[in-house]
Amino acid sequence: MMPLDFSQFDWIFFDLDGTLWDHDTAAREAVRATASAFGLPPDETIAHFHAVNAAIWREISARNFDFDALRRERWSRILAAMDQRDRLEDLEKISDFHITRYLGTPRPLEGIDRVIPRLAQHARLAIATNGFHVSQDPKVAHLGELADYFEFVFCPDDCGALKSDPAFYEALAARAGNPAPQRMLMVGDSLKEDIENPLTLGWQVLWLSGEGKVPPSTTTHPSITSLSLVQV
Ligand SMILES: [Mg+2]
Repeated sequence: MMPLDFSQFDWIFFDLDGTLWDHDTAAREAVRATASAFGLPPDETIAHFHAVNAAIWREISARNFDFDALRRERWSRILAAMDQRDRLEDLEKISDFHITRYLGTPRPLEGIDRVIPRLAQHARLAIATNGFHVSQDPKVAHLGELADYFEFVFCPDDCGALKSDPAFYEALAARAGNPAPQRMLMVGDSLKEDIENPLTLGWQVLWLSGEGKVPPSTTTHPSITSLSLVQV
């Protein structure tokens, strides 16, 4: 990637999961620990967790999101898929154990403690995530002193729209005082959630393509495998 001149931006917005926070490790470890604690087959539980979670996330509406209902529904479907319906009486305990474990350990991605303070010398920083405050705020708190570099955490519950809706980014821009579109940079690991809509709105973007992956040659926007490799 060509070095980006970060001084051209008024604001830099960061996705949270997979960008600043190691969601994959946290999720895998939490599901494995939950399976172990409740005597469920670990590999099967992890496979069903990912499938069920992806399906539920597609069904979510930002307007009537209910975190407790979501986490119960998630484990209810996982147990049903594994023919473990007799464990439904433990649903509340399983769901509580899992979410406590998932949010209980600091999981900042490697290198962000170097990059974030340097980027803060060029632009104002904030977090823009597709998760809801109830799960995302504890993760940001786990970032410790690094959290102070971000002026706010913007979530779908702040605007009634998910990242797949341009309304999310319009509301985010309004929250930042409506700078010129080209003076805002969105950084994230999901093309669909973090890159497509900001590009359409005329923002600049930096896509984190993932370790070991080569960005498709058709991709014309700036990309880098991980935030830790950004030169600033
Ligand atoms: Mg992400």
